[in-house]
Amino acid sequence: MPELPEVETVRRGLQPALEGARLERVEARRADLRFPFPDGFVQRLTGARIEALERRAKYLLAPLDRGDTLVMHLGMTGRFEIEGSDRSRPGRFRQAAPGEEKHAHVLFETDTGRRVTYFDARRFGYMDLIPTAGLEKHDWFRGLGPEPLGPAFTTEHLASAFAGKIQNVKATLLDQRIVAGLGNIYVCEALHRARISPATPAGRISRGRLEGLAEAVREVLLEAIAAGGSTLRDYAGADGALGYFQHSFRAYGREDEPCARMGCRGVIRRTVQAGRSTFYCPQCQR
Ligand SMILES: [Zn+2]
Repeated sequence: MPELPEVETVRRGLQPALEGARLERVEARRADLRFPFPDGFVQRLTGARIEALERRAKYLLAPLDRGDTLVMHLGMTGRFEIEGSDRSRPGRFRQAAPGEEKHAHVLFETDTGRRVTYFDARRFGYMDLIPTAGLEKHDWFRGLGPEPLGPAFTTEHLASAFAGKIQNVKATLLDQRIVAGLGNIYVCEALHRARISPATPAGRISRGRLEGLAEAVREVLLEAIAAGGSTLRDYAGADGALGYFQHSFRAYGREDEPCARMGCRGVIRRTVQAGRSTFYCPQCQR
């Protein structure tokens, strides 16, 4: 399942093809993905100009010059392919493997000669058109916490959001009202990097350690985005794996392996918290 760094990588890959372009032809090959397409989906998009390609949590947002925003979520297996782009420009990528044509559900053709195809084998992804003026109040966005890479995600924010909380820090960081778009993998990685036990009650973490935690969250995401960016370059002009790049984790998925921290003799353990696997080092995470 794509997490925030993967969605951000997809955004950066699509941006040169879509931002500023007018949609000349749009095709929806089914009536639904995870949810039905909204009424008039194709008509409302055809002829519209995409003013920007943005991201909020794990949503891609394409505000249009007609007052709607095209909202796209990749679900579990959603991905894009761009064709017809100029090879010399960044952001060109192809991902579809042969025989995947039956999973090509939505096509966008732009006035700049690009053809962007949305593939989704399991169809947990979805798209909608939401009036831009009401976006913040929409169910999907109302109450979302700050972006972890944005200016509002600070030590002060964590201190006030965690104050008095007896819930463990792992579950607390997965709460989208506290920070938007952070998923299981990067919460495990950030806690490992900050040397905080995932079982610690959120409200008991000192301010100094919260500062380290906020920094660790930013670092693990930025490193993953950088890895995704190198994937984009590696796959320019070739079949690639946009949005699902290989990235090495220090704790996640490493049960029974030695802790990657220099000087730590611990072994990574897996436990289950709130139905999700947590990977951590009992030696250096306290
Ligand atoms: Zn360790």
